[in-house]
Amino acid sequence: MNVKLLQVTEKGINLVAEAARISGVSSIQTAKGIIELITDNDYSSALEHIHFTFDISAISVALSRELLEHRIASHTARSTRYMEEQGFSYYVPRELEEREGGEGEEVRIYREAMARADEAYMKLRELGVAREQARYVLPMALHTHYVVTMNVRSLINFFMLRLCVRASPEIRELAMRMYKICMAEYPDILSRIWCRGFTLGVCPENKARPNTCPFKKLVPEKREVKGEFEQQARKIIEKELKKFLIK
Ligand SMILES: Cc1cc2nc3c(=O)[nH]c(=O)nc-3n(C[C@H](O)[C@H](O)[C@H](O)COP(=O)(O)OP(=O)(O)OC[C@H]3O[C@@H](n4cnc5c(N)ncnc54)[C@H](O)[C@@H]3O)c2cc1C
Repeated sequence: MNVKLLQVTEKGINLVAEAARISGVSSIQTAKGIIELITDNDYSSALEHIHFTFDISAISVALSRELLEHRIASHTARSTRYMEEQGFSYYVPRELEEREGGEGEEVRIYREAMARADEAYMKLRELGVAREQARYVLPMALHTHYVVTMNVRSLINFFMLRLCVRASPEIRELAMRMYKICMAEYPDILSRIWCRGFTLGVCPENKARPNTCPFKKLVPEKREVKGEFEQQARKIIEKELKKFLIK
């Protein structure tokens, strides 16, 4: 997997601070102070003024589908309709590769399946089958090339979901690589962000959190925290509703 930064908004902190001041945040605050306020209080719309564009290569089609689920982004992917895929390279899950030092039967079966797909694709092309038809024999592991642009608000959402240990390993690796790049550009924003548990202070994964979660002992479950005040809060909500709806 290769991740390169193609473009990033320059002087974004000042841009965000300026936008926030226009919206009414006190002009006395420093740009850094405003960033803290925006990220901590989740007044995130001003962060949409900063954009990152990444060039991402040697990722699987399976990962590109997961990336595409992030709708608040601009996506461009290599086309299997217009590009030749003979002799394609492909993703091998690290866990599979590490089994028996990469010599195990599992990885052999996997690689044979890739070779068979490549052979079928090649034969179809030799028989004059168009790329747009032949491509259906290609596997999800096929390497693809991708360009994605996201604003920082959307990136934060992406990191919160995909840096979580419950995200699939390939997209988690991508998220980590992107995070490192973003952190180098805008540490004042990104140092406040990681998975949902770290960022929010409670983990919405609740009981689904696996033992591999590094924050399991540190960050409480959302259910636990909410459970402590929920009944009392419900009564308050009912009173609030009455105030507005019942004369
Ligand atoms: C651990 C994990 C497991 C997952 N498993 C599955 C799965 O089994 N099947 C599956 O299909 N997906 C799965 N997903 C993908 C997930 O459901 C989301 O599609 C994906 O994470 C994109 O998140 P998003 O919608 O917040 O991002 P974006 O699409 O970028 O949206 C950003 C935010 O904009 C708002 N928004 C965007 N579109 C709308 C809309 N139409 N209406 C209202 N608000 C909107 C929401 O607040 C949203 O959080 C999984 C994700 C994770 C992290």
